[in-house]
Formats: sequence, C-alpha cells, structure tokens
Amino acid sequence: MKSLSKILTITLLYILTLNVSTFAMITEEVDVAVVGGGLAGLTAAVNLHEKGVKHSLYEAKETLGGRTYSVTTAEGTVFNMGGEWIDSDHKRMHALAQKLGLDLQKETYANPVLVALGGDTISMDDKIQLFESIVEKLKRVIKGMKQSPLDYYQAGTEVPYSRYKSLADILPGDLTEDERRTIEAYVEGSDGASTSDLQAPLIVSLKKDIKEFLDLFKYKQAETPQDQIDSVAFQHRVAGGMSTMIGALRDRLDGGNVHIGHRLTRIFKDTAERFHLIFDDGGEGREVIAKSVVMTIPFSVLRSITLDTTLALPKLCLDAINTLTYGTNAKIQIPLKEEEELTPFQYFVHGATKTLSWNPVSGKGLTIFMGGDTGKTLSEATAPPLAQSVLKQLGGTGGVREGLQIKNWSADPFAKGSYSTAGVNQSPKLGTPSNTHKGVRKFAEPVGGLVFAGEHTSLDYAAYMEGAVRSGELGAELAAQHLL
Ligand SMILES: Cc1cc2nc3c(=O)[nH]c(=O)nc-3n(C[C@H](O)[C@H](O)[C@H](O)COP(=O)(O)OP(=O)(O)OC[C@H]3O[C@@H](n4cnc5c(N)ncnc54)[C@H](O)[C@@H]3O)c2cc1C
Repeated sequence: MKSLSKILTITLLYILTLNVSTFAMITEEVDVAVVGGGLAGLTAAVNLHEKGVKHSLYEAKETLGGRTYSVTTAEGTVFNMGGEWIDSDHKRMHALAQKLGLDLQKETYANPVLVALGGDTISMDDKIQLFESIVEKLKRVIKGMKQSPLDYYQAGTEVPYSRYKSLADILPGDLTEDERRTIEAYVEGSDGASTSDLQAPLIVSLKKDIKEFLDLFKYKQAETPQDQIDSVAFQHRVAGGMSTMIGALRDRLDGGNVHIGHRLTRIFKDTAERFHLIFDDGGEGREVIAKSVVMTIPFSVLRSITLDTTLALPKLCLDAINTLTYGTNAKIQIPLKEEEELTPFQYFVHGATKTLSWNPVSGKGLTIFMGGDTGKTLSEATAPPLAQSVLKQLGGTGGVREGLQIKNWSADPFAKGSYSTAGVNQSPKLGTPSNTHKGVRKFAEPVGGLVFAGEHTSLDYAAYMEGAVRSGELGAELAAQHLL
C-alpha cells in the first residue's frame, strides 16, 4: 500500500509538472509572426493585414513604437523621444504619412544654425572660416589616399591602412581644437558614437555633411531668396509627433492580432519547418507556431535571445547579430516657460558639451541631442548641468529646471542603443549588399522563412525610420511569398 501511494503521489506530481511547463503555456498558430512593434514591425503587420495574410504581432513593451514615440506636456509641447527628422528623399516615410492621412511639417533653415565652441556663439564669418578649413583638411586626407576607404568598404574588403582603423585615426593631424570639437559634436550626434569607435571610411560622408553646412551658411550670407533656401535646406517632421504615426498604424490593425507585453525569449524550428517562438508574457508564457517570421528586434537585443541551431543561421548573419555596432544617442527635453525667450535658432552645435539642439515639434521647449560617452552616461545626475550649460548659451535663464524628460536609449533593455552605425570593430563585410534582395544588407537575407527587418537591415537607409519602413514593407512581401 505504501509503495502504491508513493507511486500515485509521484504520478500526480508528474502531471502537475507537465501542466505547469507544457499545458499552461498558451499555444497559438499563425501564418506569419511579426516580432517587435516599432516602425518596421507595424509597417510589416499593416502590409500583411492588407494582403489578407493571417498574422500576429508580438511586442515586448506595453507600448508600441519602439524607438519612435512622442510625449506631450501639460502645456501642449510635443517632444519626440527617438526618431524625428524625415529627409526629403525618404520617400517611403512621406508615402506612409500620406497613406495614413498625417500632415508633415516642413522645417526650413530659416533661422540660423548657431555654433558655440568654448565660449559664446561665433559670428557667421567665423563659422564659414571654421567649416571651410575643416572641409579643406578633410579633402586633403581623402585625396592623399590611393583609393578612398569608402571604395574598400563598399567592395566589402578591409581598408589596407592598419593605422586608419577608426575615424579618429584618419582625421587630419593639424585640426585646431575648435575644428576637432565641431567634428566631434557633429559626429557623436549624427553617427551616435565617438570618432574612435567609428570606422575610418566615414571620413567621406563627414566631409560631405560639413560641406553641406558650409553651403547653408553661404546661402544665408548671400541672402539668397527664401524659396531657394527652402529648396535645398529642409526636413520634415510628423505634425503632432511620432506617436501620432504609431497610433495611426495601430488603428489599421485588427486589435486581436496585436500582443503587447510579449517578450521573445527563444526561437527554434521543428522538422516540419515551422518556427516555434517562446514568449514571456508575464504569466504562463505563450508559444507561437508560425510558418514564417518577420524578425524586427534590433541586433543589439537579439544577440541575447536564444536562437536555436535548428534555425541554421549563416555565419555572416550570426556575426552581424553578435557584433553590429549601435550608437548611444540620447535626448534631454526641456519644457520652457511661456515668458522664456531663447535666441532664435534652428540648429545649435555646442562644442563644449558635444551636443546638438533644436526646437520641439510644437510648443515651447528645447531638445538636446547627444551621442558617444555623453549619451551613454546620460542620467538624472548628468542631465541638469548639461541642460543648463546649453540653455545659458542660448540666452535662457539658469537655475534648476522642472520637468526635464531624459531618454537614454542605451539603457533601454529593448533597444540597447540608438541606431546601427559603422563601428570600428566590425568587418566591412557587414556593409556588403545582398545580391538577391534589393536594398538589403547581405547579412540580413531571409533564412528559410525567417525574414529579418528593421532599420539595421537596410542597405541605404540604415539608422533611419525610412530604413525601418522599407524593411517592413519588404519583410511583409517576403513572408507572404514564403507561404505560397
Ligand atoms: C535618439 C534617436 C534619434 C533618432 N533620430 C532619427 C531621426 O531624426 N530620423 C530618422 O529617420 N531616424 C532617427 N532615429 C532612428 C529611428 O528611430 C529608428 O531607425 C527606427 O525607429 C527603428 O525602427 P525599427 O522598427 O527598426 O526598430 P525599433 O523601433 O527598435 O522596433 C523594435 C521593437 O522590438 C521590440 N523588442 C525588443 N526586444 C523584444 C523582444 N525580446 N520581444 C519582442 N519585442 C521586442 C522593441 O521594444 C521595439 O518596439 C533616431 C533614433 C534615436 C534612438
């Protein structure tokens, strides 16, 4: 009798264990699982919805939008906490706004670009001189090479100059302190990392960008008619902020197919070539079985998720997942009081703090943008003195600021960085184009129904919202094709 009750107890325990580990986990089957609810994932889901493909979207956070969202203060000021500016050639972003019926605000450089290095903002003549000198020095370095590093980079071969490993190594040795600070403020903002963490070939695009600023100053100085300035120097932002766009995308989806609070922890493939995705949903968990997957999780995060060997990911793809460099951009948003007036400006390069600043989408405030170590270490402690330093230069009042909004993207566990960038430690091969899929980086080619999407997969628009949207559109198409 004793042994029979022992057997019964063991059996009961076994059944209970099975219940917890297997049966309690919700299992669902879909044709396509979209992982990640940022711009790429939402675009993919909307496209699949329009194609009538059975799909579901799974997002780890309780909110959608990923690296794009906006906040509106009680006073009505709208700040974008992540992605914000849309270039004139970002055609899919323009098309998406139009499709969703959203207004894009055109923002010209009607107000000046201000530059302050150690002390006060410098005059237009000094700016022109500073930028002209930088362009000349960069040109000299580029000309002095047998072949531009960009040629090697695009060919996917190593730059043969070992001493030119990083952008810092290749910068002209005779830059003045002011020139170096200007370059560092600009590069840390736009590329997200410090010059010593970025690849040498970026010197080519750096020269192009600085030259564009120079042209801008010259247009202003020559008092070129406004319409001409408008035609060369403008960008767009979504009126009402990026959360307006995210909300409009969300409204296009069937709510039952969108699962927030679902963090992917593991993915594997069975012998019937179906994908199994295991999610932590804060409860018993969810297992999703899908014929195809659109995977939009940034590689900075994907590298810590269990990717089973059954997925048979190629070495290049695994290398990219494990090593792709991400910038460390961060933002401080400062609401301003109604009576507080700053010096009118469009864009402010502040060399002393290595930050770039601009106005919010609407209302009174100031956005301070940074990268490199300043972005990586941005915290409740470092933000107030930095904000005060920038505000002081723009004629704002000093003192402790209320209501600062700080967003350090490197510290966000679902982003672990701002956007992909050309890091010094990564092989140029990561920039190689796919031969089979237009506009895609080779490492991001689909692997048997597992389709990679997200800004980082885009060949020409990596780092941008444009890249995310393009990859989402293509991702939906490739996933749907896989079902045929
Ligand atoms: C500070 C900053 C400024 C920027 N400025 C600009 C700009 O001016 N112009 C521009 O074009 N671009 C800009 N960008 C870049 C732009 O925001 C991104 O390129 C774009 O938003 C990326 O979209 P995505 O869908 O590829 O990735 P994401 O938005 O990161 O989406 C991925 C989603 O996956 C989710 N996720 C992560 N882990 C898991 C998991 N385990 N399970 C399930 N879901 C998960 C994330 O929460 C996220 O929602 C900026 C970015 C930052 C951070």
